Amino acid sequence: MKIEMVDLKGQYRRIQAEVDQSILSVISESNFINGPQVQSFAQNLSDYLGGAQVIPCANGTDALQIAMMALGLVPGDEVIVPAFTYVATAEVIGLLHLRPVLVDVEPDTFNLSIEQVERAITPKTKAIVPVHLFGQCANMDAVMDIAHRHNLFVIEDTAQALGANYLFYDGRKQKAGTIGHIGCTSFFPSKNLGCYGDGGALFTNNEELAETIRMIANHGQVKKYVHKVLGVNSRLDTVQAAILSVKLKHLDEYCQARQGVAAYYDDAFRSISAIHTPVRSPFSTHVFHQYTLLVPSELRDTLKDYLQKKGIPSMIYYPIPLHHQEAFRSISRCSEDLSVTERLCASVISLPIHTEMTTEVQDEIIQGVTEFFKDKI
Ligand SMILES: *Cc1c(COP(=O)(O)O)cnc(C)c1O
Repeated sequence: MKIEMVDLKGQYRRIQAEVDQSILSVISESNFINGPQVQSFAQNLSDYLGGAQVIPCANGTDALQIAMMALGLVPGDEVIVPAFTYVATAEVIGLLHLRPVLVDVEPDTFNLSIEQVERAITPKTKAIVPVHLFGQCANMDAVMDIAHRHNLFVIEDTAQALGANYLFYDGRKQKAGTIGHIGCTSFFPSKNLGCYGDGGALFTNNEELAETIRMIANHGQVKKYVHKVLGVNSRLDTVQAAILSVKLKHLDEYCQARQGVAAYYDDAFRSISAIHTPVRSPFSTHVFHQYTLLVPSELRDTLKDYLQKKGIPSMIYYPIPLHHQEAFRSISRCSEDLSVTERLCASVISLPIHTEMTTEVQDEIIQGVTEFFKDKI
């Protein structure tokens, strides 16, 4: 049996009848663009998120771009992002001729370093983009506090943490992506709530902002053939919305399955001193989009090869930090200390984690990792 990073086929099989039915009804109604399923999915997700407005779009990268357009950022404005993230977060900043300001992350949670955010602020700073990396929220109490004090926008990149709960100092609980001015997510197939193609969405609690986002995602159109601003064409297909409404009902159960796999890995690796298992932050649940270990950098690539030879896949998220990417060299500004990001890029390794993982398969993965470290203390 082939071991996979994610098992989309197995996940589909368990909900096949309902998914097939939902797809077939879209096809028989043939309302492929902005069919009623798009609005009902937006409503279902809004209910799940506790009432935030949900504006579906074509993918997570578009969501981030539309968010920055909707906030009225103009060329030269600075936007603070972690250097340790997927390229999409910072790419759209550059595309809009805004300046990405790359800051370091915390060594334990891999999320935005609050201290560095504070230091990176200049009179040109307009927004902060916390990325809830690998399924766990950044310190949103601190991010929102900085944003209020400096009058900045907050755009949450929730592509990896949909379903996670943020726990405020005062005991309140809110869904990841609904805390900042705008939250952005992706329904890429392997994300925690994935569709069967591309998809994405924006969240906001601000009615006016929601209207602006809807307008921008739809060619800047206020009514048919009346265009108030330059927009983009970014829609969630009706078929994808229909699939997502079925899968959304299982999201909490999917998150729990991932948490179960993570806990089982944790137990198995506790006695291996060379391995650092994922740290849970006190202010967020972890929905484990990835299960990422820190291992000694000189062993990381040999571990990956060793596992590969045993038929165990693993991934490096992310091997090259943004400040070493040619595309960002001339357009970004960097904080002077990005040493945590550097270290993480050399020592992270993500193991297979998904909703269909059996104990049998997981034991095989654990055995591979354990054997590798046996003679390496
Ligand atoms: C997946 C992802 C995106 C982009 O989503 P797409 O739907 O692939 O465009 C953005 N940010 C992060 C952190 C992601 O993991």
